[in-house]
Amino acid sequence: MERIYDTIIIGAGPAGASAAIYASRARLSALWLDNRLIPGGQIADSGRVDNYPGLPGISGADMGEAFAEHAKKLGMEPVREEVKEIRVTGASAEGAPVAGRGPAKPLFLVTTSKGQYQAYTVIYAAGAAHRHLGIPGEEELSGAGVSYCATCDGAFYRDLETAVVGGGNTACEDALFLSRVCSKVYLIHRRDQLRADAVLQDLVKKCENIEILWNTVPDSVEGEEEGEVTGLAVRNVADGEIRTLPVPGIFIAAGMIPNTELVKDLVQTDDGGYIIADETGRTSCPGFFAAGDIRTKTLRQVVTAVSDGANAVNSVQTYLLI
Ligand SMILES: Cc1cc2nc3c(=O)[nH]c(=O)nc-3n(C[C@H](O)[C@H](O)[C@H](O)COP(=O)(O)OP(=O)(O)OC[C@H]3O[C@@H](n4cnc5c(N)ncnc54)[C@H](O)[C@@H]3O)c2cc1C
Repeated sequence: MERIYDTIIIGAGPAGASAAIYASRARLSALWLDNRLIPGGQIADSGRVDNYPGLPGISGADMGEAFAEHAKKLGMEPVREEVKEIRVTGASAEGAPVAGRGPAKPLFLVTTSKGQYQAYTVIYAAGAAHRHLGIPGEEELSGAGVSYCATCDGAFYRDLETAVVGGGNTACEDALFLSRVCSKVYLIHRRDQLRADAVLQDLVKKCENIEILWNTVPDSVEGEEEGEVTGLAVRNVADGEIRTLPVPGIFIAAGMIPNTELVKDLVQTDDGGYIIADETGRTSCPGFFAAGDIRTKTLRQVVTAVSDGANAVNSVQTYLLI
């Protein structure tokens, strides 16, 4: 435990991988932690990624592998340990400068499933997870017609009919995005009014190829065994009527759950639980930087996550110097 790292990177998704690559090239001493067996974070669960520049049509698993391989070439490999606790423990030993660079800094003590580590800074890139509906067929057909990201997968449904489940801003934005790609979009909402901002509601209601199914809940996803989605069974909560929408694509916009439970007492988060930080990654806790899906931002994608990882390392370098 005597060793003090310049930074501990938590998460081996796109943001963490990018941070590891930049940290290695900046000659920072870095420990990289992740709790999954396969690299890539969420993107490893995607069958096909078609919006990352230079790699059209790559599978999410291959993309995760490619990120990890790149980092490995630079001497960085994620250590498979689950982070359980992060604490600030006071100034570095006897107020000594940080590894010969800047003035003394508080230390972070990171406790994992296997041990404890110290660092002057933390890059927290622990990501987020899409909230699932828990209806029959959803898990089995995830990635085969069930999607949680219209920006990621909408283009695969050009000129086809799709359904969006939800009633908030994301659901309305997804429906509007899909209306420009698909022949028709059903917006399934369990209440008789949407929760989205008024301006989005207006746009959705005026859009000719969006049909809102009010007071309606999804019942089950229909599809061929180990095949593709063929439809979405929906139920009207007012009269109990069940019908099947013959859609090959279902977009679930039920919100995301950021992995911030561990740090909610350490840094400021917004109402949705995301760490409040701009693209520099700086948070309310000096020395603690947030990168990727975990932070407040408008677009949660691989391309924005890798950018965050690079920016966070840049911020770490500046922080260690001054
Ligand atoms: C099915 C699917 C398809 C998608 N398709 C696309 C697409 O086509 N294009 C696109 O740009 N984006 C896509 N996305 C979104 C994209 O995957 C995310 O925006 C991106 O992965 C975010 O990267 P991240 O590094 O911030 O977090 P994540 O990818 O979530 O990585 C976080 C990592 O931290 C680990 N972690 C969390 N907590 C701990 C802990 N306590 N200890 C140790 N490790 C921890 C997690 O296990 C994970 O490995 C898709 C997402 C999904 C789920």
